[in-house]
Amino acid sequence: MRVSDDRYTRDRQRFDLAERLIRHEARTFTIRQWTGLSDDRIRKLYRSYVMDNDSRPVQRHRGKSPRQAAFFFKNAELTFQAAQLASLYLVYGLIGGSALAVESRYRMGSLESGALLCDAYESYVEWHSPASISFEHAWFLLLALSKREELSVARCDLCGGMRLCDLLSRRRLNCSNCGAPGPTMPLAVRKPAPC
Ligand SMILES: [Zn+2]
Repeated sequence: MRVSDDRYTRDRQRFDLAERLIRHEARTFTIRQWTGLSDDRIRKLYRSYVMDNDSRPVQRHRGKSPRQAAFFFKNAELTFQAAQLASLYLVYGLIGGSALAVESRYRMGSLESGALLCDAYESYVEWHSPASISFEHAWFLLLALSKREELSVARCDLCGGMRLCDLLSRRRLNCSNCGAPGPTMPLAVRKPAPC
């Protein structure tokens, strides 16, 4: 492939990814993080997307992206859906490792990783429409799982299913399907699996 063809292909991928992110109502900052496009270019893309798709309105969200892990534990259904999304991140190779040590497998700013994040989110939305977890919350979930400071995944010790763990909580919880919380465990002796 000639250099100019290669550059054209990358630019095409960049704009395709930006359009997918606009469709998912990602914030301008997030779109810039994943595509490297300027804010001005993103605004123009957004305007042309809205003009071309007036039957499918998208909202433009402003302000900071969500960064509250507690959001995923608001109720059992949200926790269940977040665990499903985490499973999709594993399937799409955005995270890896083991239940004891989740590892980040995506590269920030990589068009390929950005496309995989969209693939995973679109698979989630296919199951849950309208989706309770916005794209921005989904992106935060991936970020938090990779950092391993607030959130992780582990196997439920009752049913064996994947569950989301609140690493800052002192309570040991079963998955949202099994419901009943287990005994309280101090952080010092709490093991990552089961959580
Ligand atoms: Zn369970």
